[in-house]
Amino acid sequence: MADLAEFPTDWQTALVLVAHPDDPEYGMAAAVHRWTGEGKRVVYGLATSGEEGIEGMAPAECGPLREGEQRASAARVGVDEVEFWGFPDSAVTNTPELRAKVAEAITRTRPDVVLSMFGGAEWAPGFPNQRDHMEFAAAVRAAFDALPEPRPGWLFENGPHPTHAVAVTGADIEAAIASLAEHREYLRVLDPDTPIAKQAADQVERTTPAREDFGGRRSVGFALVER
Ligand SMILES: [Zn+2]
Repeated sequence: MADLAEFPTDWQTALVLVAHPDDPEYGMAAAVHRWTGEGKRVVYGLATSGEEGIEGMAPAECGPLREGEQRASAARVGVDEVEFWGFPDSAVTNTPELRAKVAEAITRTRPDVVLSMFGGAEWAPGFPNQRDHMEFAAAVRAAFDALPEPRPGWLFENGPHPTHAVAVTGADIEAAIASLAEHREYLRVLDPDTPIAKQAADQVERTTPAREDFGGRRSVGFALVER
């Protein structure tokens, strides 16, 4: 297997586009912490407020709660620009309206790098991706394709088949764990038997492996989609 390339460093603003609260934290928060520590600007755009995401909680209560958890989570990795677009959780669809919102967010934020979600059908054999994620990733790709020049320099997706990686430190990893753990109510209901701190640490461990194809360094991987 070819070694992973170093993620580009010659940029200033990244726009992270995801479907739900907690999506940035499940994959890329350690990299975000590194970048904001270097003085880069990172903005989060979320299609939904995750209002269907907590079992037994009404959407009208859940949406605002999860927005609050997401803002606290973003703050842990140096992100204070977080926007929620109000598309329906669990019914995200690659519509013209969603593509138009993606394009509007990119045009307004003027990122050098757009970071989206994995849009493939399976993370690994037997581990299917969520439909919301697949629809959302497809919408981002299509919207990016249709942007007028000059487009952002790169579109990457976080996910299981990286082409590039960002080395992260112990401090980045600690911040990523703290960031994911801010989704307190979400994680508490998701897995009542496992302490939130352990859930967060286990997940960040999985997404910041020491990669043999990246000099053995702990890192976050991204797949280059377009440049
Ligand atoms: Zn999600």
